[in-house]
Amino acid sequence: MEHVYDMIVIGGGPAGYTSALYAARAGLDVAVIERMSAGGQMAVTDRIDNYSGFDEGIPGFELGMKMQSGAEKFGAVTKYAEVQSAELEGTLKKIVTSSGELLSRTVVIATGAGPRELGLEREEEYVSRGVHYCAHCDGRFYKNKVVAVVGGGNSALEDALYLSRLASKVYLIHRRDSFRASKIYVDALEKSENIEFLANSSVSELIADERVTGIRLSDGRELEVNGLFVSIGRKPASEIFRGQLDLDAGGYIIADESTRTNIAGVYAVGDVRTKPLRQVVTAVGDGAVAVHFAEEYLSGM
Ligand code: NAP
Repeated sequence: MEHVYDMIVIGGGPAGYTSALYAARAGLDVAVIERMSAGGQMAVTDRIDNYSGFDEGIPGFELGMKMQSGAEKFGAVTKYAEVQSAELEGTLKKIVTSSGELLSRTVVIATGAGPRELGLEREEEYVSRGVHYCAHCDGRFYKNKVVAVVGGGNSALEDALYLSRLASKVYLIHRRDSFRASKIYVDALEKSENIEFLANSSVSELIADERVTGIRLSDGRELEVNGLFVSIGRKPASEIFRGQLDLDAGGYIIADESTRTNIAGVYAVGDVRTKPLRQVVTAVGDGAVAVHFAEEYLSGM
């Protein structure tokens, strides 16, 4: 007889491992399927300062490892594989991975969201050769160099400020003349001496040979830059569920605070779900809530 889990969690970020922790503590037979390593997007965040309880902050990677070991201590197992497809309808759900099929009574989707691309010609070709999506991961390559950041939200301003401490000059390119970002970032930006804000601008072309050497703006101007950091929001990792789960226009899985999706026994937690605030602290809350409703579902309530 093939093994049937009580719960399979897809994705090992904060939401996923919190579901696994709560499920394991409730005595459920739970496995987390993770592609690479624990922590999700959090793991590429230098330091997390807004997760309560860590008064000195904590490196995102370390917090991810702690969440994994905390869940495994109570019996959750981690399987390293890529999920290729899923059959979510019915009482027995089938998850097809790069290393075989798994069966489960419930599924928690915690696949998160990745960076949104600008959609420039050759953008993909120059990833890591001048095009980047994570300032905290790749900023160190641009010490005393010139970089551009695109975007006007909290991430873009945070990235521009971080890079301004490394690079000699930072262009901040935004398609409007006002920001979505919080006042605290806008005030810091105004005080910065080496960030030049280019309002009502967008990047139309990469100028590159072996690496990016510059960018062309929509008004035709050319800027010499060594690197371009794209910080224009995120896109949810939900494509493999399209057609089964209801998604909103941005591709987020439609689920309310209960984390329940349109399919019974399937829950969406963390950044992949429709929600007003995507943070570690809201992701872990989702993880716990999903297990509450999964237990109800499993007991036939
Ligand atoms: P965001 O708030 O959605 O902002 C995305 C920015 O990119 C917007 O300024 C948008 O311009 C611009 N943009 C989108 N598509 C574009 C395109 N194709 N070309 C050019 N510009 C484009 O995304 P985010 O900054 O990544 O933040 C995501 C969430 O995390 C937010 O809720 C944010 O508050 C949160 N966050 C919080 C913190 C913090 O609290 N410390 C730090 C980082 C992020 P428009 O304004 O014109 O739409």
